[in-house]
Amino acid sequence: MNKSLIKKDGLIIAGPCSAESEEQLVTTAKSLAKTGMVDVLRAGIWKPRTNPGGFEGVGLKGLSWFSTAKKETGLAVGTEVATSRHVEDVLHYELDLMWVGARTSVNPFSVQNIADALKGTDSTVLIKNPINPDIKLWIGAVERILNAGITKIGLIHRGFSSYNNKEYRNAPIWQIPIEMRRIFPDLPMICDPSHIAGKRETLLRVSQKSLDLHYNGLIIESHYNPEEALTDKEQQVSPEQLAILLNQLVWKKESSNLPEYQKKIEILREQINQYDDDLIHLLHSRMLVAENIGQLKKANNVTVLQSNRWNEILHKMISTTRNTNLSEDFIKSFMEILHIESIRIQNDLSNSHKMNGLLNFSENV
Ligand code: PEP
Ligand code: MN
Repeated sequence: MNKSLIKKDGLIIAGPCSAESEEQLVTTAKSLAKTGMVDVLRAGIWKPRTNPGGFEGVGLKGLSWFSTAKKETGLAVGTEVATSRHVEDVLHYELDLMWVGARTSVNPFSVQNIADALKGTDSTVLIKNPINPDIKLWIGAVERILNAGITKIGLIHRGFSSYNNKEYRNAPIWQIPIEMRRIFPDLPMICDPSHIAGKRETLLRVSQKSLDLHYNGLIIESHYNPEEALTDKEQQVSPEQLAILLNQLVWKKESSNLPEYQKKIEILREQINQYDDDLIHLLHSRMLVAENIGQLKKANNVTVLQSNRWNEILHKMISTTRNTNLSEDFIKSFMEILHIESIRIQNDLSNSHKMNGLLNFSENV
C-alpha cells in the first residue's frame, strides 16, 4: 500500500501537532476519518521544542496509540523521527510513514544517523525542509536517505525561519521548493501550511497557493480541541474546520487537453518567449551603455559607485511602476540586481590594468 500512499495526487495528512493521550489521538482520528478526506493520521510523539520546558511529547508509549487509531479508523499513520532509535521504534510498531523534521534535516550528522537506521528497510520517508533557507542542506538530506536505498521518499515544505516576520511563522520562500522540484521531479511535494502560517486564518491562503503550484498534497495540523492543544495551538483546526477548509480548496491540474486551451496557451507562450528575447536584448544594450560609462569614469578617475545617481534611478523607476501592475518590491529587487551587475562590469574595467599587471608580473617570474 505504501508505494501508492505518497504517490497519490491530493494526499491529505492530518492530525494533532502532538499525541497527548490515547483518547485525544483516537477521537481526533475518528473525526478526521469521518470527513472522508484524510488519508494519513499524523502526530508527533517526540517533540523537538526550540526552548526547553515546553511539552516534549509522550515518547514511546504513544506508538501503540497509533495502532489503536489505525485499527479503529483504517487511516494510515505516521510520526516524526529525529534519531536512529526513533526509526527503530517506528519500524517496530509498523507505522506507515515517518518524517524527518525541520530541526533534524538541518543537521547532516542526524540525517546520516537516521539514514543508517533505515538501510535495508522498505520505509516511506518524508523529508521536511531544514529550518534555514539553505537548499543544499535539503538536497543533502534527500541524498543521504536515497543513498540508504530508500525509494519511497516525499518532500514537505514547511517554510523557513526568518527574523521578525509578522506575516508567517516560517516564511514560505516558494522559490526553494520550486527549485527542489526541478532537481527531484519524481518526488512528491507536500505543503505544510500549518507551520508556514502559524495561525489558522492564513491556512487557506497558503494551502491554495501550494495547489496553484501543483503540489501533490497537504499535511495540516488538526486537534479535536485546538484551544486546549499542548503545542502549536494557534495553528491547529478542529477536524470539522479542516473539512470546511479542504472543501474550499480548488485543486488544479497541470495542463488541459482541451484543443481550445492548447491553442490559446500556445499563442500566449509565444508572446512570453518574444518578450523574454526582447528583455535579453534590452539588458544587453543597457549593459553596453554601463560599460561606456565605466570607461568614462575610469578615464576621469571617478568612483564606480555613485549613491546619488543610484537613488535617482530607483526613485524614477518606482514612480514609473505606479502606472503598471508591477509591485514596488519587485521593481526594487530587479533594479538592485541590475545595479549589482553594472557595478561588476564597471569594476572589472577599472581593475583590468591591475590584473594585467599581476599577470605580467607572474609571467616574468
Ligand atoms: C511538526 O510537524 O509538528 C513539527 C515539529 O514540524 P517542523 O519540523 O516543521 O517544525
Ligand atoms: Mn507542530
